[in-house]
Amino acid sequence: MNYKTGSNLSNDNKIYLLAEDDPSDTELITSMLDIASRGNTQVISVGCFKDALAALQANIFDALILDLNLPDRSGLQNLQIIKQSFPELPIIILTGNDDPDLAIESLHRGAQDYIPKAEITPQLLLRSLRYASQRKQVEIALQKALQEAAFRNRQLDRVAKHDALTQLPNRTFFYDTAQTLLARAESNTETSRLALLYFDLGEFKKINDIYGHHIGDLLLQEVARRAKDCLSEYDIIARISGDEFIAIIGQLHNTSQAYAMALRLYQFIAKPMNLSKHKINICACIGIATYPESNTINLLIRHADLARYEAKKNKDNPVCSYSGDIENRYRRKVEIEKNLISGINNNEFYAVYQPVIDLLTGEFTGVEVLLRWHSRTLGPVSPDEFIPVAEASDFINLLTESLLGSVQKFHRACVKEGILLGKIAINIAARQFASSLFATDLIATLTELDLPITNLVIEVTERQLIENIELCREQLEELKVNGIKIALDDFGTGFSSITHLMELPIDYLKLDRKLVDRIDTNDRNQALTVGVIQMAHHLNQKVIAEGIEREEEWRVLKKLGCDHIQGYWVAKPMRDNELISFFKDWHETNQQALLSSTLA
Ligand code: C2E
Ligand code: CA
Ligand code: CA
Repeated sequence: MNYKTGSNLSNDNKIYLLAEDDPSDTELITSMLDIASRGNTQVISVGCFKDALAALQANIFDALILDLNLPDRSGLQNLQIIKQSFPELPIIILTGNDDPDLAIESLHRGAQDYIPKAEITPQLLLRSLRYASQRKQVEIALQKALQEAAFRNRQLDRVAKHDALTQLPNRTFFYDTAQTLLARAESNTETSRLALLYFDLGEFKKINDIYGHHIGDLLLQEVARRAKDCLSEYDIIARISGDEFIAIIGQLHNTSQAYAMALRLYQFIAKPMNLSKHKINICACIGIATYPESNTINLLIRHADLARYEAKKNKDNPVCSYSGDIENRYRRKVEIEKNLISGINNNEFYAVYQPVIDLLTGEFTGVEVLLRWHSRTLGPVSPDEFIPVAEASDFINLLTESLLGSVQKFHRACVKEGILLGKIAINIAARQFASSLFATDLIATLTELDLPITNLVIEVTERQLIENIELCREQLEELKVNGIKIALDDFGTGFSSITHLMELPIDYLKLDRKLVDRIDTNDRNQALTVGVIQMAHHLNQKVIAEGIEREEEWRVLKKLGCDHIQGYWVAKPMRDNELISFFKDWHETNQQALLSSTLA
């Protein structure tokens, strides 16, 4: 609208529209204005409401003088219609009868002033027009200020409820909306199924470290976009922290639908991304919980989160639905965590030793030291249960420390008995290499405990080593320089590239039990084992086969050129005193004779 209003508050060169059906009133008002402004104003008059609307379309008027009683339409409604179409036009109402209520009502409905026809004078008319313009200007300014304030409030509200990076709702907003959805689902039995997906990105930290935070941010934005595209407009997705996202999906008929959606989300995110000329692949780990099985928003989030952890553990299945089993495993894990520290303080952990035998001579080459835990509250806990829990925290260092204490005693006892223990292999989690002082500290401890450093073997699993290769490399080199040997444990379960094997200072490959199990009847595993043995020998590494339970397995491995074996067929892991007796008796057993014999 380009009314001249406000550009000039004097009444010079103003043009007014007068809507008045009485010709004598029209004439009177026109001449009064002419007199009062000394011929500097122009009045255009119309006799009905329709003409008034048509004339106003020209947008040339500084104000409208409106008689509310026009022949084609009358009443306050006329005022309202004009106000809606021309919100910036100052309006003065002419009232025929001196009705104060009507006058006040017209001001409420947006007129700037009113003049009873009976009281009209040239000066009054002119003054009224001037004030009407002023008042309108103030009104417009006020309205703009209010609109701006409302806009700012909306923006602030948006900022408070949205994540600035991805523009997705944040945790607070998600929580509020999810509560509403849940309440609706509760009251509506037909469409009452909901699913909550909780996901994060594997290796996101690595992307940040390698490409920088800018690329990390772009990646999160792309993930948010893909996730939104994948879900329907009625589903809500939020970023709740770092690389963690959460989505709630409604209108589900069954739980397998939620799984299918999560899988689709996984596939969407897994497609390669082009971010600032970098081609990046990233995978999500997705946990699913469903309503009404998990029946509050807190439970849905907790259960989906537990399922996500389960998905993380299982590389082959990155989408996982919550189940009671997961809850039980989680509870068990918490129980273990709770009892670990008291277990260490109460000396509930002890070491057992499993002999390793030379396949050519049938002699001992050493032992692998394995941890055992007999908890006062939980009873015996298998290493497969407590080791991963301890490895996820610094407890593992305390356990290694206590294990080395036991080894020291055992070693002393062997020396006293004149037993040559040979190599002593201990298991170390890759996480323990995270401390750059690990190797230095270990060597210091071994020296302090008076253990033969050059007889020590560190076993690291293939999978952990490959996943943390940068962390481990330097530490392994330092151990190696100091005469400690390195064994690659559980070999054959990960996917080591030969390059890795060549560049790391590895002395032993320990073939995983899965590879060796029933090897006598498994041609494929035999072929694989021959290849691994040949490669290892080329690299000056010795091969130890673990988990030998049967004579037939021993025969095949001996034929294939394997160096050492370890397994229940020779001996189970034993307490120190048991092992000392076992050592002493070894040469008298038929098994030693059998082991040292050449194959028929
Ligand atoms: P691992 O290093 O692969 O140890 C070999 C596991 O195979 C041991 O299980 C041993 O008892 C078992 N075993 C040996 N021979 C046979 C056999 O002929 N048949 C069968 N079925 N099993 C056999 P264990 O003692 O339960 O240890 C499980 C895992 O716990 C170990 O696997 C190792 O990764 C971890 N672990 C044990 N002690 C420690 C430790 O002090 N530190 C760390 N970081 N991990 C440890
Ligand atoms: Ca081992
Ligand atoms: Ca192993």
